[in-house]
Amino acid sequence: MEPHQDHQEFIFRSKLPDIYIPKHLPLHTYCFENISQFKDRPCIINGANGVTYTYAEVELTSRKVASGLDKQGIKQGDVIMLLLQNCPEFMFAFLGASYIGAVITTANPLYTPAEIAKQALASNSKLLITQAAYVDKVKDYAKENDVKIVCIDSAPEDLLHFSELTQADEKDIPAVKINPDDVVALPYSSGTTGLPKGVMLTHKGLVTSVAQQVDGENPNLYFHSEDVILCVLPLFHIYSLNSVFLCGLRVGAAILIMQKFEIVKLLELVQKYKITVAPFVPPIVLAIAKSPDVHNYDVSSIRTVMSGAAPMGKELEDAVRIKLPNAKLGQGYGMTEAGPVLAMCLAFAKEPFEIKSGACGTVVRNAEMKIVDPETGASLPRNQAGEICIRGSQIMKGYLNDPEATERTIDKDGWLYTGDIGYIDGDEELFIVDRLKELIKYKGFPVAPAELEAMLIAHPNISDAAVVPMKDEAAGELPVAFVVESNGSKISEDDIKQYISRQVVYYKRIKRVFFTDAIPKAPSGKILRKDLRTRLAPDLENK
Ligand code: AMP
Repeated sequence: MEPHQDHQEFIFRSKLPDIYIPKHLPLHTYCFENISQFKDRPCIINGANGVTYTYAEVELTSRKVASGLDKQGIKQGDVIMLLLQNCPEFMFAFLGASYIGAVITTANPLYTPAEIAKQALASNSKLLITQAAYVDKVKDYAKENDVKIVCIDSAPEDLLHFSELTQADEKDIPAVKINPDDVVALPYSSGTTGLPKGVMLTHKGLVTSVAQQVDGENPNLYFHSEDVILCVLPLFHIYSLNSVFLCGLRVGAAILIMQKFEIVKLLELVQKYKITVAPFVPPIVLAIAKSPDVHNYDVSSIRTVMSGAAPMGKELEDAVRIKLPNAKLGQGYGMTEAGPVLAMCLAFAKEPFEIKSGACGTVVRNAEMKIVDPETGASLPRNQAGEICIRGSQIMKGYLNDPEATERTIDKDGWLYTGDIGYIDGDEELFIVDRLKELIKYKGFPVAPAELEAMLIAHPNISDAAVVPMKDEAAGELPVAFVVESNGSKISEDDIKQYISRQVVYYKRIKRVFFTDAIPKAPSGKILRKDLRTRLAPDLENK
């Protein structure tokens, strides 16, 4: 490397000026800071039954829940696991925990009992809030580990009902001193390598991230208080929790909850509630682009469609524009560890910037981005692709109980390495072109290959295995496995698929198995995943 290059850093910032961010405020205080302006306006609308809660009601109920949690013995720093589909109780529990300095870890309720137990144990969850449909999955774990279960609907007799939390007296909330660096949310993510880890997001981090999206000189960057925002993406994923729920609260918008995605139901809700903002992931955008039902509903109220969590190509953007002609379409780019939003499109700024197809936005305000050559570590100028790195107060504090993984992800200068490959063009727009990391994304849901590989290798008939993504139009990527059979043993593709299906949630299931003699590895033992992905390419072409 030339000596002068050592000192040359190419750092990219937002096209918009930095803003003031009240990083000292606890998250709930920050979210409700402007509540006096909209306390009687709808805050949460339950799409399932039309029940609406005003801002004043949401704030009060959350404080009651805080007090109720305290009565159940939850102390500052304790972890509570939410195992819920989208529902108002999710929001009350999250805010209630924030008031008393507790931490929320979120898990997909469709996880298998073993997946839930793993996360509950690793996060040391003291209380589990769930719904009747999932109680059977957690009963045994809760009993063995002395963890209380709270049920939001028809609770079996021996369990606590959520109403016991909401009936507590809000005046009894214990006085706690919350520091900006205290953890408030603990989603799980595998990051650039290995097994899922607890991502410690702090009050300061989430306040910063929300502010970067909706505060400041451009107050209408994404949402404003007249908006009706669709909350169909699962709140257990940080995209929805942050960019829909917390951002919606901060601006005073109405948040319309849909339990799960169903195209006709979604269109009905858009028409009935005149939804203005629709945060989506590419598979939902695809469903809308392909649905003949869209023409039967009035969807003209949608002014903004956001897409994130996975790449959305130009063809898809164009197809959905035809279906939703009144809507501006913009991509955002997030990663759980980054808080999660790294970049967002500025199509909605006061002075809108023109957006290029395929771009996933420009770096958020009050943050720095650089593009690093994965071989040399040098930062790269515009139009050169490398690993995307981000720095700012919004990024995670680190992985829970895993300083090594934290050090591998955030360097000593505070740069977080995303494992995504991209470049920034002459107009500050970020384009993601590849992924350096192992992560697979099925319909926007993360799948950690290491988790599936550990299960495969544990099978007596399998001596080695590697799991990689295979491109797929509907899902984006599918997890597929390369498997080496143990000496002298035979196992079929179906046996392997079933063996995995029994242990994981549906989107982690292995869709294809390729038998091979050896898994290609570097001398260090690292799987050469790119070689395996290349082997899949001819298969793709034959489809
Ligand atoms: P998660 O932590 O589950 O939010 O997954 C983060 C990863 O999803 C990122 O590191 C990217 O690989 C991918 N991702 C998120 N948003 C986008 C986007 N707009 N375009 C391409 N990939 C994306």
